[in-house]
Amino acid sequence: MSSNVALNYVNDVYHTVKKRNPNEKEFQQAVKEILDSLVPVFEKNPSYIDHAILERMVEPERIISFRIPWVDDQGDIHVNRGFRVQFNSAIGPYKGGLRFHPSVNASIIKFLGFEQIFKNSLTGQPIGAGKGGADFDPKGKSDNEIMRFCQSFMSELAKHIGPDTDVPAGDIGVGAREIGYLFGQYKKMQGSFQAGVLTGKAFEFGGSLARKEATGYGTVYFVQEMLKGNNDDLNGKTVVVSGSGNVAIYAIEKATELGAKVVACSDYNGYIYDKDGIKLDTVKRLKEVERKRIKEYLTEHPNAQYSEKSEEIWTIPCDIALPCATQNELDKDAANHLIKNGVIAIGEGANMPCTTEAVDLFIEKAILFGPGKAANAGGVAVSALEMAQNSAHLSWKFEEVDEKLQDIMKDIYRNSVEAAEEHGKSGNLVVGANIAGFLKVADAMIAQGVI
Ligand code: GLU
Repeated sequence: MSSNVALNYVNDVYHTVKKRNPNEKEFQQAVKEILDSLVPVFEKNPSYIDHAILERMVEPERIISFRIPWVDDQGDIHVNRGFRVQFNSAIGPYKGGLRFHPSVNASIIKFLGFEQIFKNSLTGQPIGAGKGGADFDPKGKSDNEIMRFCQSFMSELAKHIGPDTDVPAGDIGVGAREIGYLFGQYKKMQGSFQAGVLTGKAFEFGGSLARKEATGYGTVYFVQEMLKGNNDDLNGKTVVVSGSGNVAIYAIEKATELGAKVVACSDYNGYIYDKDGIKLDTVKRLKEVERKRIKEYLTEHPNAQYSEKSEEIWTIPCDIALPCATQNELDKDAANHLIKNGVIAIGEGANMPCTTEAVDLFIEKAILFGPGKAANAGGVAVSALEMAQNSAHLSWKFEEVDEKLQDIMKDIYRNSVEAAEEHGKSGNLVVGANIAGFLKVADAMIAQGVI
């Protein structure tokens, strides 16, 4: 078939998405990236068009938006807005994290939920796609305030989730502490212990070993595979990691373990540069225990440098860049800096951290580029392993989970490389990952009929 038919189809669907979801720029951006990369699929197999597969895929199965009232330590009442987008259940229960951040809105949750369809499919695990969260700012809140907020959030969310229905987990602003409070409230409301309703739990009540490390480790494993494909490895490489949350911390840990030197990381307020290598113990304590700003790193390591311009972290010369903070944090200017400084590989630890223009530039210059849907899929993959352990009422050893994670990341890499090759886009892992993720979900949807 002529490529015009495929191209017109994709463009038509995209225009409808834009019209139906005005002002949702992140959602539109995520949809555009996927749709553009699927053109070769429709050229090769136009029957997908007859099934209106894209029209169905871009529309969430369900969106829930709800009120979250809570009382602060002074007795004042606040109201936040909560969301759960149940995007696609063709290959398993809805699965995806919860984000607590003031920037959360329908566009952000829909972009994340949409990406989750392809990411979760790529893991090879039986998980559909969902995402949720609230425009709540956990910064500066006491433990009790966080607990009351989580309880109020779950009071509504509980009506819509379950181990075989929808299984939330963490994301930005939601870690083990929040998952604990959410789980407690769910358990109390149901009157039964259903471990598989949430993942990212503490080990004591059904969490999986290596889940905490999985996203960061997985990102580095993925980069390792890309480098291996080029007869290279991480040993001796200089790495810049943005962020200092769960993904960044364990990306730094694994990269360092594999012989790289990580010289910078950041938070919303600024970045630190330590030319001798970031001391991860300090970052872990500041972020995981004391919940302080990254600036405090200087108190213990006065030779490091601090800048309030977080986005300038990408001007630091490095071989490998791992954006692990948030969406659209690495733009065209940043990409140009990295390229000028000789970067050889990028691994997206966060979801959609590179803007479309930055991604295009990396691909054009043939820089190894691991898109988030592939590179950061290790987190949700181990969440699926947590679900498997929960339903079998057992727990695997750390090494066992870590080994499975490594195999999964290798499979994701290989499947993405092969899908790109088969569709005439050799070496383009953005296209490869999107196509490989798409095919499984599309075939499952068609087999299940028009529902
Ligand atoms: N929030 C993570 C992601 O973006 C993990 C989701 C999960 O474990 O369900 O994939």
